[in-house]
Amino acid sequence: MGATTVAVLGSTGSIGTQTLEVVRAEPDRFSVAALAAHRSVRELASQAAEFRPAVVGIGDQELAAELTSAVPAGSEVVAGPDAFAALAGTADVVVNGVVGFAGLGVTLEALGAGRRLALANKESLIAAGPLVQPLRSRPGAELIPVDSEHSAVHQCLAGEPSPPERLILTGSGGPFRGRSADELREVTVADALAHPTWSMGPKITVDSSTLMNKGLEVIEAHELFGVDYSCIDVLIQPQSVVHSMVTFGDGSTVAQLSMPDMRLPIGYALAYPERIDTPFGAVDWAALGSLTFELPDAGTFRCLGLAYEAGRVGGTAPAWLNGANECAVGAFLDGRLCWHEIASVIEHAMGHHDGAAADSVEAVIAADSAGRRHAADAVKRAGS
Ligand code: MG
Repeated sequence: MGATTVAVLGSTGSIGTQTLEVVRAEPDRFSVAALAAHRSVRELASQAAEFRPAVVGIGDQELAAELTSAVPAGSEVVAGPDAFAALAGTADVVVNGVVGFAGLGVTLEALGAGRRLALANKESLIAAGPLVQPLRSRPGAELIPVDSEHSAVHQCLAGEPSPPERLILTGSGGPFRGRSADELREVTVADALAHPTWSMGPKITVDSSTLMNKGLEVIEAHELFGVDYSCIDVLIQPQSVVHSMVTFGDGSTVAQLSMPDMRLPIGYALAYPERIDTPFGAVDWAALGSLTFELPDAGTFRCLGLAYEAGRVGGTAPAWLNGANECAVGAFLDGRLCWHEIASVIEHAMGHHDGAAADSVEAVIAADSAGRRHAADAVKRAGS
């Protein structure tokens, strides 16, 4: 059998570059069929020179000419806002490493084309769950999570004929674990970006600091594994070694453990049901020391509860929540909003949710836009 072909969409971001490290480590197993980035032409061209994909995509149309002159002969260039989605049917495995709601097109196209989707873009599944679900039964279509928690749950459930009783999603607690609401009034962007255990992009790192990332992961777990919200728990595991756990009806808990290294879940999603031969994040048990667990502080980190609530409402509520969150996080990163106001901005936006069903791409996009609009209003008021 030949190598598994991989399309890496969002190839210059954190997930994209780590995916290419996995491919580089396992050259007999994987080859790159397509690469795409939004704007980082030079890095994209140097990736293309190394991995020789058949197609290279750039999201920003204005950069098409620059990319064309920089890629090696034989690599076709596609450009424009639809370039990512256009590449989603070009390989055995499509890695969706796009940041945020913008990844929706890739998720829908990859599954629609009957490909395996290695999903790092949780936002597309969260916002458009009702649209993504039917595509999972297309012949050949398969959704393997790259998110470390969901990869852990997937590993815990593999080969289990019995349904899980509870999912326990773990989280590091982020950089502000243990601090009170009062102590969090003055934190800066740099404070929020100083994640204690994981190296990730800025958007998800801020989401980790508010626990919105964990909240979005609760919705993601509900969509991926079909488990009711009342059976999904969140537990803080500050060392980020236990990546999530599943409890079965007989009282047994199965967990997946490794050092925090995204290349492990990426390699798992690319090679499943096999495993790659390169160890990423293997635990040195004698040196590990203790593992500790604690409940999240839902009173201080209110985004977690807001996400559970939106998940339970269903329909377009998760899309609305996600849009509001992306707007609030963007405003925080730009210095237009204080960290402690992020939850209030999202809460305000959720107060305007219109209860619409997520029955079309248009409905999901409208909910995302409305969530952003109401959040933007609240950001303006907070700043005045
Ligand atoms: Mg995660």
